[in-house]
Amino acid sequence: MASLLCRASAGIIRRSLAVSGARASSSVGPPQDPHKGKIANPDVSMPDTLGHSVGPERYELLSKLSGIEDPFELNVKKRAKGTFDDPTLIPSITDIRRVGCICEEDAISINYMMLHKGEPKRCECGYWFKLVEFTSDI
Ligand SMILES: [Zn+2]
Repeated sequence: MASLLCRASAGIIRRSLAVSGARASSSVGPPQDPHKGKIANPDVSMPDTLGHSVGPERYELLSKLSGIEDPFELNVKKRAKGTFDDPTLIPSITDIRRVGCICEEDAISINYMMLHKGEPKRCECGYWFKLVEFTSDI
């Protein structure tokens, strides 16, 4: 029984040494090309940033290429006169949009409100906002 255990354990040790020896010998050789066999045509190179981009990132890159610098309308806009008759126009592609108003110049918080198309809304600071259809010239 003891000899059977010794023989079995010797076999396990021998196999593990053989595997570690094979791993050690493969790391000694010359460095391998990591892309070897993966690229069918040697003239083909990696795509650029636009080629790799998908989804919203691709939309943003294509918009900037076509001249639209703020495709998601996220830049800060200066308030207009802000009266009921001359409200600050907020462009939107939907019927509702969340708007943040920095009511005072040195305010440390933003006052958020929901704007609905066709309903001008007054902020707590007194300025009026109105949701309008998105066009690229606003
Ligand atoms: Zn405000």
